Amino acid sequence: MNKKIEKVFQRPARPGMVGDGFRVFNYFPGIIPQKRVSPFLMLDFNAEYDFGASDHLRGVDVHPHKGFETVTIAYKGSVAHHDSTGNSGIIHPGDVQWMTAGAGILHKEYHEEEFSKKGGPFEMVQLWVNLPAKDKLTAPKYQPITAAEMGKVELPNNGGLVNIIAGELNGTAGPATTFTPVNMFDIRLNKDGELSTATPATHNTVVLVVSGSAIINDETVGTHAFVLFKNEGEEINIKATEDSVLLLLSGEPIDEPIAQYGPFVMNTSKELEEAFEEFRAGKFGVLE
Ligand code: MN
Repeated sequence: MNKKIEKVFQRPARPGMVGDGFRVFNYFPGIIPQKRVSPFLMLDFNAEYDFGASDHLRGVDVHPHKGFETVTIAYKGSVAHHDSTGNSGIIHPGDVQWMTAGAGILHKEYHEEEFSKKGGPFEMVQLWVNLPAKDKLTAPKYQPITAAEMGKVELPNNGGLVNIIAGELNGTAGPATTFTPVNMFDIRLNKDGELSTATPATHNTVVLVVSGSAIINDETVGTHAFVLFKNEGEEINIKATEDSVLLLLSGEPIDEPIAQYGPFVMNTSKELEEAFEEFRAGKFGVLE
């Protein structure tokens, strides 16, 4: 049975700035309640934008996270990052960085130096994925996932390619390890390319049209539209009406209370206070 579409959201009217390097449209929790997209907490989409050549590294300086995971998907442009566990790297176009903040981490994220000097199109998604209560204090870790390492599904009739970041599509698995069941597919369709797949009806499932346009389960959706599916039916059929890039996310909801203050996402307000105290006391480590 085809998965029913609950609603197609258009791109929010105004972008917001995260530091001076990320010009983002917030789809959730901005226009869709967190509970409806659990285990996902936040989706910021830096739709393609050229910041121009810069004499400094645009981005976000040192800040903490605790209790969840941040996933950065680079479509265009490159992002560099460093964290307080000593991990660092560059996320190139097509690559993903999956950072588990867990018990607490400091990091900074900014445009990669060579890219920053030249400028050029920058297109990026940052997604926050919640951790279940039992794993919120897991040790921080970091999964750099290059495009080459992702699971690959070539679509018939030169239809395009799906990069599987996490979960499984039609029998091919992605490399990311997750704490709860999550599917994350980077879908690249050529004009008229078609993909048929399925996610469990119990999963919350969404699709962001990063670029292009498509027909998804009989509904026509344009650039930057965001499809929220009902928890009914499993099959998803996508046909691109032009060359298109889509991001499909699905996950088993985490049915637990959320207590959030900015970059800390816990279950109770007491745990939030603890997180803030730990941060103030320097327990998330040191990062210059
Ligand atoms: Mn961050």
